[in-house]
Amino acid sequence: MKSPQSWLLDQSLIKTLLPAPRPANSHKGIFGSVGIIGGASGMVGAALLAGSAALKLGAGRVYLGLLANQPSTVDPAQPELMLRPVDELFELDHLTCLIVGPGLGKEISACLCLEETLQTSLPVVLDADALNLIAHHSELASALRSRHAPSLLTPHAAEAARLLGTDIATVQNHRMQAAEDLARNFNCSVVLKGAGSICAFPNGHCYFNASGNPGLSSAGTGDVLSGMTGALLAQGLTSENALLLAVYLHGAAADALLETLAGPIGMTASEIIDSARHLLNQW
Ligand code: AMP
Ligand code: MG
Repeated sequence: MKSPQSWLLDQSLIKTLLPAPRPANSHKGIFGSVGIIGGASGMVGAALLAGSAALKLGAGRVYLGLLANQPSTVDPAQPELMLRPVDELFELDHLTCLIVGPGLGKEISACLCLEETLQTSLPVVLDADALNLIAHHSELASALRSRHAPSLLTPHAAEAARLLGTDIATVQNHRMQAAEDLARNFNCSVVLKGAGSICAFPNGHCYFNASGNPGLSSAGTGDVLSGMTGALLAQGLTSENALLLAVYLHGAAADALLETLAGPIGMTASEIIDSARHLLNQW
């Protein structure tokens, strides 16, 4: 087998991946529509954070399909987000990509949504309990492997260990190997998250990311990464480029905040979104 090629993600590489400047005659239709499925009872905030990240990283429209019983129909803090019962999301015919996982939970309804998602021909970002469900249900794993459209997986070490049927220590001691195995086994683009995230692709290409800091070790930052990735897919980046740019930008946003806050303590996922938006406009 051909040995994998690996690179460091740095500013000069990232500059080649940025979305094209927006034309003066642009309209929201050309920046894509992101659908996000998650937000089961008690975890609606995770879906709202992913939605906010998708919106603020430039998606034209963002729809949230929430699994919670009687979900709210509007987020007063972010009325731009279109909140819908989850079934209605599958009726939309203009989505550019789907994100499944933020606050998804593991109820049967979550499983059914994931199954339906895997049958679509849309690019999909799978995170959190979407990954745990795939680890536990072989028919979902088969459906993932046989997709033709791009699939992006964003596991942290524990989720990666479940997907690979191994333990966390093994993943952490062989992070590059674990990311490559996931990319090959599932025929997916993968980021193995955590300090020094590794991006791996089915073609054997592998990237190490050095941006980011312990300020990111707080609730919701993973949901933000999934929303950012969806926004970049919606704006037309390839799955490889969207994942690489999102991972680097997410860490760089935290690094920029480190200076503003004078340290990593109390950095929030919402602040990461605003910092990432600022950098993306600046670059
Ligand atoms: P999750 O584990 O799903 O909540 O996602 C956490 C996000 O924050 C991932 O993108 C991680 O790579 C990132 N992250 C968490 N802790 C660190 C750290 N110490 N250094 C760099 N990135 C981190
Ligand atoms: Mg997570």
